[in-house]
Amino acid sequence: MNFTAPDIRNWSIKRKLKAVIILTSLAVLLVLFLVFVLTQRTFLRTRLSQDMNVLALNLANNSAASVIFGDKRTAKETLESLKTYPQVTDCLIYDTEGRIFSSYHKQENLDSVLTYPSPALIDAGHLFARDYLVSVHPIDYGTDKLGLIYLRANLALIESTLIQYIGYGFMGLGTAFLLAWVLADRLQRIISQPIDQLAAAMKSVSKERNYSQRVKMERHDELGSLIEDFNEMLVQIEMRDQELHNKQNRLDYLAHHDALTGLPNRLLFHDRLHHAISKAQRMEQSIALLFLDLDRFKNINDSLGHEVGDHVLQVVAKRLTNIVRESDTLARLGGDEFVIALEQNTESRELTIVAQKILDTLSTAFRIDTHELYITASIGISLYPANGLTAETLMKTADVALYRAKEQGRNNFQFFTMDMNDRAHQALFLENNLHKAIDNRELALYYQPQVEITTGKTIGMEALVRWHHPTHGTIPPDKFIPMAEETGLIIPLGKWVINTACQQTMQWQQAGFPPCKVAVNISPRQLRQSDLVETVEQALKESGLAACWLELEITENVLIEEVAQIITIMEALNALGVSLAIDDFGTGYSSLSYLHRFPLSKLKIDQSFVQSIGGPAGNHVIVEAIIALARALELEVIAEGIENKAQIAFLKEHGCVYGQGFYFSKPLPVDACEKFLLQEQIPKVFAPEQQLLP
Ligand code: C2E
Ligand code: MG
Ligand code: MG
Repeated sequence: MNFTAPDIRNWSIKRKLKAVIILTSLAVLLVLFLVFVLTQRTFLRTRLSQDMNVLALNLANNSAASVIFGDKRTAKETLESLKTYPQVTDCLIYDTEGRIFSSYHKQENLDSVLTYPSPALIDAGHLFARDYLVSVHPIDYGTDKLGLIYLRANLALIESTLIQYIGYGFMGLGTAFLLAWVLADRLQRIISQPIDQLAAAMKSVSKERNYSQRVKMERHDELGSLIEDFNEMLVQIEMRDQELHNKQNRLDYLAHHDALTGLPNRLLFHDRLHHAISKAQRMEQSIALLFLDLDRFKNINDSLGHEVGDHVLQVVAKRLTNIVRESDTLARLGGDEFVIALEQNTESRELTIVAQKILDTLSTAFRIDTHELYITASIGISLYPANGLTAETLMKTADVALYRAKEQGRNNFQFFTMDMNDRAHQALFLENNLHKAIDNRELALYYQPQVEITTGKTIGMEALVRWHHPTHGTIPPDKFIPMAEETGLIIPLGKWVINTACQQTMQWQQAGFPPCKVAVNISPRQLRQSDLVETVEQALKESGLAACWLELEITENVLIEEVAQIITIMEALNALGVSLAIDDFGTGYSSLSYLHRFPLSKLKIDQSFVQSIGGPAGNHVIVEAIIALARALELEVIAEGIENKAQIAFLKEHGCVYGQGFYFSKPLPVDACEKFLLQEQIPKVFAPEQQLLP
């Protein structure tokens, strides 16, 4: 059988305390008991030895006469009195010769067994042997020695008394054990109960993580200070926990809010939209998403600095917050993009009111520092579930609608319609592929001759970009230029056009073709870009083309905003020797009274007016007016989009000297263009007077 000692260390404190109390008390009792038994034994023996000594003395006195007179009978009778002493087993009277004079034996005993005591014993008076006591006393008469009394007492009585004591002792110990057990059980509680409470409190604190709990116990001992320390520790943890909680809340807030405006950010908005969609799904309700983008916000940042831009965004956020209701979620997605999710009033009539309200609230002037700014926005609206079932598709469709709103001339809102999706796909395709177009040499310049109407002489070429996509064929500029403008790709693309046009024109001049101007279209973003002047200068330098052969066409709408900045750039270009023409004139919103302030040399009458010549009355009047205006401003004028003789006749009649259009030539690739120029060199091949006029 294997016995393993219990591992006391693993005992509970209760058990340990109980064991300590019981064992200690038992050990103390045991020691006391042992001391008691031993002292009792000593006491009993001492008393016995004293009794025996006194008895021996008395016997010696009483038997002295018997010994003197040799009266053995009387001596015997004296000794017989010892019967009353149960412990006395033997008594012998020796005479001076060492002979036994008389004897007493409690039981049959042989005198011979008992030998005459040694002188040492006689001197000591008594001696304890293993189980008996011998007491010796001399029998004197005066100074004479008559013999001695030898008394022997049994110690069995003492032993039995001691055994009895031990018996009582064990009974006492047993009772003490029971008492100790009961007391230990009570006493240990005094110590273990607070420890238990403390342990329970710790467990509950660690389980519930509620550090506001306190252990309530009034004590002034070590446990009391332990509890006090524990409570203090909880106070510290609670404080740190609170601090941590606050920091976490702050972090959480920062992670979910836009630092500039304090509005929910993209992350939080997505989360809310997901919830709103699940709710709408359950309740069979609809949600509207209004995607808002500030128009030309970048210009504010670029021209007035980011601080003003940030301020504008904050004011926009404030104005939008005033419009939305509590049930709506307004968020800033980043940059100048804001989004509103409406869970109520999602009928298109109501949405129209909200969207218009937004446009109206933004139309009020923004007074920021010393600036008075006018800001417009474009809004795309999509609806759950009609335009998307998930947050992602809703955002995408709203974005598509926003894109359409931008296309529609900005400062308006558009509801998403399915046909927008195709356009969105197309836009995405263009954006993704346009990046590679320049590197992959997929772009090419076509040239359309510009002609002196009266003589038919080519005076210039307009460079028009073409994109020959390997799988999608030729993509017209109308399709990708707005996208390039939107994404900023127009900058590298425009640079490539300027470089290529300059190099090509120079090559033609070097090949001996009669020199003519090359007109390059410049998009608004390109013009506002600060290094356009350097780009042009560099292109001229690298190609070796003289600046007088380069003309830049800019659209009329460029002249509306940031007039001073535009004039500076135009003047810098003029200073290089480059001439400037206004493209599509008549379609924009330029103020005629300002026109003379721009360093221009040419107006290009938009083809829509030219093509209306001969049609219903009205538009040809505009052509006349533009020609007159150009003349008044001392500008050259060229009509574009000329397709027939009637248009030529009209233009000629009204003094328009230059023209461009399919009638003369479509835009041509380089080799075809060279052929066109070669033909022109053959004299009198082209006689416009005879050929064109009826
Ligand atoms: P735009 O500068 O007004 O160019 C004239 C457009 O009218 C050209 O279209 C040309 O092909 C077309 N056109 C010329 N004659 C006639 C005609 O008799 N009848 C008709 N119906 N159309 C005629 P294209 O090449 O498709 O260019 C469209 C627009 O794309 C251009 O209008 C210009 O604004 C822009 N663009 C073209 N190339 C570039 C470029 O390299 N850079 C920039 N920024 N814009 C460009
Ligand atoms: Mg043009
Ligand atoms: Mg044009």
